[in-house]
Amino acid sequence: MKRTACLVALLALLISVSARAEDAAQLQLALRKLTFLGSALYVAAHPDDENTAFISYVSNGRLYRAGYLSMTRGDGGQNLIGDEKGELLGVIRTQELLSARRVDGGEQYFTRAIDFGYSKTPDETLAIWNRDLILADVVWTIRRFQPDVIVTRFPTTGEGGHGHHTASAILATEAFAAAADPTKFPEQLQYVSLWQPKRMFWNRFSLGRTPIAPDDPSVAKSQRVDLGTYNTILGRAYTEIAAESRSMHKSQGFGAAERRGTLLNYFDLLGGAPAEKDLFDGVDTSWSRYAGGEAIGTVLQQAADTFDPNNPAKTLPLLLQAHDLMDRLAATDAWSARNPWIAVKRRELLEAIRACAGISIDVAAADSSVTPGAAINVSVTVINRSDYPFVLQTVGSRYADPSKGVGAALKNNVPVKTDISIKLPPDYAVSQPYWLQQPPQKGSFVVSDQKLVGLGENPPAIPIVVTLADNAMHTIFFNVPAVYRWTDAVRGERVRAVDVVPEVTANLGAHVYLFPDTAAKPVTVWMRNYGATGPVSVRLVTQHGWTAEPASQVVTFKSKGDEARVSFNVKPPKDETTGVLGAQVELDNGKKLMAGITDIDYPHFPPQRVFGDSFAKVVRVNVKKRGARVGYVAGAGDEVPNALRQVGYDVTMISDDDLDRGDFSKYDAIVTGVRAYNARPRMKLAHTKLMDYVKNGGTLVVQYNSLSPQPLLVEQPGPYPFKITNERVTVEEAPVTVIKPDHPLLNVPNKITPADWNDWVQERGLYFTKDWDPKYDTLVATNDPGEPSKPGGELYARYGEGVFVYTSYAWFRQLPAGVPGAYKMFVNLVSAR
Ligand SMILES: [Zn+2]
Repeated sequence: MKRTACLVALLALLISVSARAEDAAQLQLALRKLTFLGSALYVAAHPDDENTAFISYVSNGRLYRAGYLSMTRGDGGQNLIGDEKGELLGVIRTQELLSARRVDGGEQYFTRAIDFGYSKTPDETLAIWNRDLILADVVWTIRRFQPDVIVTRFPTTGEGGHGHHTASAILATEAFAAAADPTKFPEQLQYVSLWQPKRMFWNRFSLGRTPIAPDDPSVAKSQRVDLGTYNTILGRAYTEIAAESRSMHKSQGFGAAERRGTLLNYFDLLGGAPAEKDLFDGVDTSWSRYAGGEAIGTVLQQAADTFDPNNPAKTLPLLLQAHDLMDRLAATDAWSARNPWIAVKRRELLEAIRACAGISIDVAAADSSVTPGAAINVSVTVINRSDYPFVLQTVGSRYADPSKGVGAALKNNVPVKTDISIKLPPDYAVSQPYWLQQPPQKGSFVVSDQKLVGLGENPPAIPIVVTLADNAMHTIFFNVPAVYRWTDAVRGERVRAVDVVPEVTANLGAHVYLFPDTAAKPVTVWMRNYGATGPVSVRLVTQHGWTAEPASQVVTFKSKGDEARVSFNVKPPKDETTGVLGAQVELDNGKKLMAGITDIDYPHFPPQRVFGDSFAKVVRVNVKKRGARVGYVAGAGDEVPNALRQVGYDVTMISDDDLDRGDFSKYDAIVTGVRAYNARPRMKLAHTKLMDYVKNGGTLVVQYNSLSPQPLLVEQPGPYPFKITNERVTVEEAPVTVIKPDHPLLNVPNKITPADWNDWVQERGLYFTKDWDPKYDTLVATNDPGEPSKPGGELYARYGEGVFVYTSYAWFRQLPAGVPGAYKMFVNLVSAR
């Protein structure tokens, strides 16, 4: 019984998206929503795959529970708003999805699958992901969410293109049956029950841009839903809400226009009971669907029917009565912790009570971070903007001992403020996103706590429980996370969660240090103090053959937030090799820490802290270069400029102003960043100037560009014609054939050997070219298994006195990953004459 109660509390806390009823219209909708117990789970592969209009329709139109299960967090994509990649990009995309759900009213779930980049087949995808593990996660989410209807974005037959897409549909189809099968993943059944959704659909999409016509024979048997329907209470159509939600996918450049008017969507039955008229045919979506629910349904219906926007508090007695009934129901078998509805409806009901009374509960911490074992002061301000006689009974936390009895009457519009001190246990976990706490496997994250699997983000680090009562013996509990508020001079008031952080963080100046010869290099450690009081020693831990001097250094911080920079001289071994070095901090109590910190801060989601190991890869590789000064035109954000600096180039970032007026002749080479001809509008005009630069003897290296989502700004980004395609080579080990072994790009100044194509990451290249002018040389070809050879990955041409190189190879991934051969080859491109 005790465990069950804990689980109810935990599940209630973990449903991270909590729609807030901010005005009378939303409140009216929220009250009606309380009377419905229907649900749909949308399943696809990536952040941005989901149909936000469908989610908005289910959540705001049908007033059912809607969820989106994304197989991945989008770690493998390209970032259009910053230079975070990999797991950091996954954190951004996770937050973008959570922001999208706050708009469209859905809930967000994930599996442990990693977005490892483009995949051409579902078989490859499922092999890399670990099919059984990810199937278990889909089954887990279905058993926990208990959807009546499952909808997949993609068909199982491959029209979705990307292997991740088709795999998501295959897994959803298997899980549809497996979730109800007691022999499948029985270990989950200690927490959840078997569940059989009523039916499952594929949400058809048209392959072109034009919508499917209603008389198209392919949709003769499909269920139809008009997602463009206008919601009279909200004053918006579901497609309008959808555009706002979809525009949260800013890291992918998916700002979407609002559309108005009918938008028919078509749904094909993939499994379960056929539907005659409606997606939810035959589903009991009332409170009567479980024994004992009828009475509560009646009270909530009465609350919705009698709601008066001029006097919302009038509804409170009915809502509090429903709350009591819910408490009693939660103790019965049919509504145990395994039935998700108690947690879902309790959360909705508390929000409705809060909104009807105009209650605000502000839990403001004195700082945005606290270290394990330390204390933090939290001010709790509660205000009741109604005449309902609420009393603030207690304010507490597991870590404030004991919870503080207040016993203050909450008079209309009079704030009651209480201060409590929270003291965390010394072993309290740092607020690292739960899926990044352990090193990942090849295609999946490692999460040992089953209860966390699937959740969008961590439960709040410091939840505060606020108890209100009235004089009719009703007691209600609000679980409110402690937040930190501050004022930004430009953006105004900002809010973030309070994170638990290490006492001292130590970041190395780079993720990769390249030693192109045997000379020693300075390695900088950047430290920030979050809670150390005495002297802190820091040293570099190195592998055999590498040395760092001095052996250690001591830093004494004056106060929290102080930063320090210390430098070590690192000497590499004589021969080519790769290794790892790490920055280790030792506090004066002997505690050792190796944690770096990354702050992620964008306007469209709350700031995030991610703690990585403070390690760097060290690469000793003989790289010769020609030229000294390189101009770099950043595109969609990449780390290539730093990689070039590692080799010894003097790299200048070329601004828009420089593109217009700057002098290019001072550069030995100019390199354009990935998608520069998509993402930098000034490139349209600057293109002629860049071609003149080549004509006059310069070397221009253009990294890959694409055709969408942003269009290409010029006909072709080179001196002679060629076309860009969507073709990729996604297998990082795909064999490479040399077409012109004697070509300078493969010999000068570095001789390229087959070993230089080893240890690549994620992919060989993307958006290869075709139909190139014969004035271009192609040097190498590669292809994915079973596909024809693709020589269009790299083009070289002399133009006037200079050299032009177009390269679709994924240098922007290889160089930051410290792939030794990639350095040699890329430096050859920059050195081309
Ligand atoms: Zn996708």
